[in-house]
Amino acid sequence: MTNNVMAVTRKDFDNVMVPNYAPAAMIPVRGQGSRVWDQADNEYIDFTAGIAVSCLGHCYPPLVATLQQQSQKLWHVSNLLTNEPALRLARKLTKATFADKVFFANSGAEANEAALKLARRYALDKFGDGKDQIIAFNKGFHGRTFFTVTVGGQSSYSDGFGPKPGAIDHVDFNDLAAVEALMSDKTCAVMMEPLQGEGGINAANQQFLIGVRALCDKYNALLIFDEVQTGVGRTGTFYAYQHTDIKPDILTSAKGLGAGFPIAAMLTTGNIAKSLSVGTHGSTYGGNPLACSVAEVVVDTINNDDFLAQVKVKSAIFKEALTQINNQYAIFSDIRGDGLLLGAELNEQYQGQAIAIMNQAAQDGLLILVAGANVLRFTPALNIPEDDIHAGMKKLSQAIEKWLAA
Ligand SMILES: *Cc1c(COP(=O)(O)O)cnc(C)c1O
Repeated sequence: MTNNVMAVTRKDFDNVMVPNYAPAAMIPVRGQGSRVWDQADNEYIDFTAGIAVSCLGHCYPPLVATLQQQSQKLWHVSNLLTNEPALRLARKLTKATFADKVFFANSGAEANEAALKLARRYALDKFGDGKDQIIAFNKGFHGRTFFTVTVGGQSSYSDGFGPKPGAIDHVDFNDLAAVEALMSDKTCAVMMEPLQGEGGINAANQQFLIGVRALCDKYNALLIFDEVQTGVGRTGTFYAYQHTDIKPDILTSAKGLGAGFPIAAMLTTGNIAKSLSVGTHGSTYGGNPLACSVAEVVVDTINNDDFLAQVKVKSAIFKEALTQINNQYAIFSDIRGDGLLLGAELNEQYQGQAIAIMNQAAQDGLLILVAGANVLRFTPALNIPEDDIHAGMKKLSQAIEKWLAA
């Protein structure tokens, strides 16, 4: 009842929340598919899906049904007991990928933390002291725990918190010679996003991936793919590595895996997994039955050729619509990305203006994202109806027109 007595407003954010975010002025209160409504019942078309998370749209009925059913059976048991949804989900994830073994966590950062700790421990177990170098990439993003944010390629996110975890080096993405120059028997892992999301929608090229894989093999280093954003159908294959001829040794998945319910997974081979022996690592909520039951339905729905083919169809519609907007207003220098992880880079004239355009779009009833200062980012639900794509693009076009006129 307190909900009714105490009206909540955006001002409460400034009053009672730690100021690490700057959320929009409106407060969404409900969603359905690719549409969202705010407190004043204004409607928005959602091209964000909560930053590549709500991959089946808001309140997807089979997910609601699963969550309701599981909520009446078993919520939580601890890791002293296993549970059926977790085991079924792990079976499905290993069947769908290169992996034999799964560790469950609750967020992308936690899955990456597990991946990095595993890589370090595996190197120690197999090769002894001193093999601890981690190579990662400028503009990469791996989460906000202190280890993962330090491996991430933006030092402004890791500066100012005291001594950082060590033995971490960064080079430019797609610069194979730079990786080669840094690598040696001391390298324990190379970590990358196969398509950088937060860093601006930058895809790894095939030659680079093949080259890094070969260097990892040469120096007995593990290749870690952070597929937190690219995974679960986002790029048109179940995982993005499945577009390529190579496999990682460890893969992390989160965001879309729970379609809005918090869950993450770290996948690896049976041999590497041995290094996370009893007691080496853990998580209170990892493998929670509610989360795993939802993720099971997500995997069943998305890891399916027809569904993934539709992602590619929708990707083409998105790119075509963005190209048409660009034909009209000439504001993009590049339209890129795979599947429904897309970016439109602003040209010279409009550098630094991505957030302003995002804000104008929100005022006009369209939710979009940015990736850095110069790239508009689009990560809609993978099942977004075509009508909603067209309606959203109309709003984007209007927003750009207004913003250019202002
Ligand atoms: C979002 C993201 C993360 C962090 O995930 P959290 O759930 O916020 O911890 C890590 N890596 C990539 C590639 C991401 O996009």
